[in-house]
Amino acid sequence: MDYKTLLDERDLPERWYNIVPDLPVPLPPVIHPGTHQPIGPDDLAPLFPMGLIAQEVSTDQYVPIPEEVREALKLWRPTPMYRAHRLEKALDTPAHIFYKYEGVSPAGSHKTNTAVAQAYYNKQEGVKRIATETGAGQWGSALAFACQLFGIELKVYMVNVSYQQKPYRRQMMELWGAQVVASPSTDTQAGKNILAADPDSPGSLGIAISEAVEDAASSETTKYALGSVLNHVLMHQTVIGQEAQLQMERLDAYPDVVIGCVGGGSSFAGLAFPFIKERLEGKAIEFIAVEPEAAPSITRGTYTYDFGDTGELTPLVKMFTLGHTFVPAPIHAGGLRYHGMAPLISLLAEQGIIEARAVHQRPVFEAAVLFARTEGIIPAPEPAHAVRVAIDEALKCKESGETKNILFLLCGHGHFDMAAYDSYLTGKLEDYAYPAEAVKSALAGVPQIA
Ligand SMILES: *Cc1c(COP(=O)(O)O)cnc(C)c1O
Repeated sequence: MDYKTLLDERDLPERWYNIVPDLPVPLPPVIHPGTHQPIGPDDLAPLFPMGLIAQEVSTDQYVPIPEEVREALKLWRPTPMYRAHRLEKALDTPAHIFYKYEGVSPAGSHKTNTAVAQAYYNKQEGVKRIATETGAGQWGSALAFACQLFGIELKVYMVNVSYQQKPYRRQMMELWGAQVVASPSTDTQAGKNILAADPDSPGSLGIAISEAVEDAASSETTKYALGSVLNHVLMHQTVIGQEAQLQMERLDAYPDVVIGCVGGGSSFAGLAFPFIKERLEGKAIEFIAVEPEAAPSITRGTYTYDFGDTGELTPLVKMFTLGHTFVPAPIHAGGLRYHGMAPLISLLAEQGIIEARAVHQRPVFEAAVLFARTEGIIPAPEPAHAVRVAIDEALKCKESGETKNILFLLCGHGHFDMAAYDSYLTGKLEDYAYPAEAVKSALAGVPQIA
């Protein structure tokens, strides 16, 4: 039996796939919060280098990956694809379960794929310093590593609850040379405003984004970087899906269903978009995006224009949102605690091409423990959401007797999430009910766009 399908370094994709020109309906424009007019590249110039802005608005189907970025990616890519023989056996399912594993990257998740690309384009344009936010610490550590490779200074605003829960993530960032503060912090006006209202604020990605954007916007030599949500970030992740297509081809198999967790949507997009292209060309294939019940933006949010951050500093984007002031419960899947969803994922969900499912954290950890005990790899709490739904789909096959090919993304390992596993194993992990009232009041604060 074969367990792993490995590719050679020469199989590393030479281009990113941009889904924008293939969308069934056009992507609604990003608009200015004051004028409600579409924004242009110049509006983004204080925050991002032009190379990335060009990708953000690109309508080219493919964008070449610069040689220096490919050389950086080769430190860990191509990543393996596994067949989960032992998990299948434990479930007694006729389904075939495949997973693509991104935990082999230096920072332990898919985030490194876009981090090296973003650091490269900043370096090209002479940027000396970057400010960013991090939720669970994966993006901060990926960017710290990438900034170290390309010689750029980095400041990370780390969501307070994660800063407390995950000291090793902070230490990784510091090891790679970054400066890290708990957000909300007293280093920005946005942080001070939040602390004045709630001195014990657990923080949120929305708050941390406000702090990092304010930092970058108030300095000539500093740019901002985002680890998810934006079009160019999702595009950088498509190396995952292109490799997976090649790996499935070598296995002489084709996925019936593609599953991934969604926080901002970048890892799921990375695996799914190259396959969505094939679905739009007529292939029968299902896509399931899995989100936490505590922050269910697609399943319970509204598809409307909203701010990307709590402090209302970003432009307005059309997306599934729970409202930009919504602060999710402190679940362990910190990377999934975002009020919104990538505009590209939102549009595809609205069009019915992607199905969304929300799951509670206890069944998620139950699935993750079964996975770790059969397959060996300890999943990060975020992709454990995808493990849960992959198992659910495999169990459905057991009932129906179908032999489906289930492909999911294991986008990171959980080596720095042992406190979360400890609380599950000692019975302390709680499920949080869907916060209906909090979502209702946060959605009331979403701007009204005619
Ligand atoms: C950041 C992160 C997520 C959530 O972000 P997406 O953009 O939805 O991928 C999920 N899993 C891991 C391991 C992450 O680092």
